[in-house]
Amino acid sequence: MTDLDLAKINIIEDDKLLKLLSTRTGHSEVKEILKKGEELKGLDLNDCAKLLSIQGDKLLEMLFASAKKVKMTIYGPRLVLFAPLYCSSFCVNDCDYCAFHTRNPASRVKLSLESIKEQVEILEAMGHKRLLLEFGEHPIENPIEYVVDVIRTIYATKKAPGEIRRVNVNIAAATVENYRRLKEAGIGTYQLFQETYHKATYKKMHHGPKADYQRQLLAIPKAYEAGINDLGIGVLFGLYDYRFEVLSLVQYAQFMDKVLGVGPHTISVPRFQSAHTVNLQLKHRVSDRDFLKLIAILRLAVPYTGMIISTRESPEIRRQAFAIGISQASAASRTAPGGYKTDNDQATGSQFNINDHRSLDEVVQDICQLGYLPSFCTACYRLGRTGDVFMKLAKAGTIHQKCQPNALTTFKEYLLDYASPETRQVSEKSIIDHMKLIENPQTRKRLNENLKKLEDGTRDLYI
Ligand code: SAM
Ligand code: SF4
Repeated sequence: MTDLDLAKINIIEDDKLLKLLSTRTGHSEVKEILKKGEELKGLDLNDCAKLLSIQGDKLLEMLFASAKKVKMTIYGPRLVLFAPLYCSSFCVNDCDYCAFHTRNPASRVKLSLESIKEQVEILEAMGHKRLLLEFGEHPIENPIEYVVDVIRTIYATKKAPGEIRRVNVNIAAATVENYRRLKEAGIGTYQLFQETYHKATYKKMHHGPKADYQRQLLAIPKAYEAGINDLGIGVLFGLYDYRFEVLSLVQYAQFMDKVLGVGPHTISVPRFQSAHTVNLQLKHRVSDRDFLKLIAILRLAVPYTGMIISTRESPEIRRQAFAIGISQASAASRTAPGGYKTDNDQATGSQFNINDHRSLDEVVQDICQLGYLPSFCTACYRLGRTGDVFMKLAKAGTIHQKCQPNALTTFKEYLLDYASPETRQVSEKSIIDHMKLIENPQTRKRLNENLKKLEDGTRDLYI
């Protein structure tokens, strides 16, 4: 599909979505919609609008209970962990919300490949296996050649037993040609957030090349055209009415499904946080209650899409979000280039402030205590189970048979190589409990063999 063809499609139907915001509903209708959501077939825009209108505690509890069921049916108890790696704060844009905007007079940092290696070794020593790369938009400082060199450097940095096995990338909207180069360099997911789907707000908040709403909106199909089929979307919650943004995310997911033949691999739910030199008076700040509500609605609306939460959120909110829909979480993050070298996770030079300051080990321990299974799995991407191949397995429910054992082997690897004695102790029971969820005797046998091999020193085992 050409740019011209894409430009003809009205991907986000603002008027229709805005009208839907006045929809109201009652107890029995909510029950019907939740029942439909629990059938794992997703929800349409009307259903989502009705759920977005829910106010009372009782209905909200019912919504959370349904989202919890869907989360457990599709993702089981697993939570995939990763860390962001900020590579360069050089940026030509002046986005109102971000500390890397041009109005910030502070000097910028672009990591040399040597510094990238150093950062990666620190992340590997914590036990991370997946990274999400972050760059400001700067054609001269951060050209595609630099991004590709960074990716290659990361994959080549292996300080035993550490290695990064999947590199996801968040760079500004690019050309098909540049996306091809990312694909060749071996990226996992390409993520790009629309920030806000509301055109007037988008225009107001952005200055510079990113101010082109269509460029941002059509970047995902361009990346797909270049052969990248694990694609992540998101909005920055707080810029505009969260109800409109949720409907837009669902409509965008529908567009991807229909036109590209593959829905979003992930939806991220970043919420605006304070940041150096950012002075935004937000009219649409999202409360904790609404934040959890929107996660639950997205869980029901697009059940096969992974959902990502970051350390922008406090441990308490993250715990609640895990229960009702989140399947991936960052941990021990720094949001400044070079940040992993310091103990200060709020250093000037950071893109925004974070609210979860725990180490990876503390997060892992907490996750286990809550009954979830931490996973460092990267198997699907490495076995070519991406895009629609992954979706088909997910929809048939067979992906569980891969994810659960792979989560267990990667978790065991973490315990052997990196965990504190306390985490090891807490986890012993959790490994036994999570093994019980594997019903297939063949899979269980293979898993037991792999766990034994790990004890004997082999690494990186997956099915
Ligand atoms: N520069 C690229 C772009 O803008 O698309 C890469 C993304 S940027 C490094 C990562 C994301 O951080 C942005 O897409 C935005 O949603 C988010 N972000 C920026 N400022 C933020 C803030 N103050 N609070 C929370 N998230 C923020
Ligand atoms: Fe630059 Fe991205 Fe920050 Fe905007 S959000 S100022 S494009 S780094």
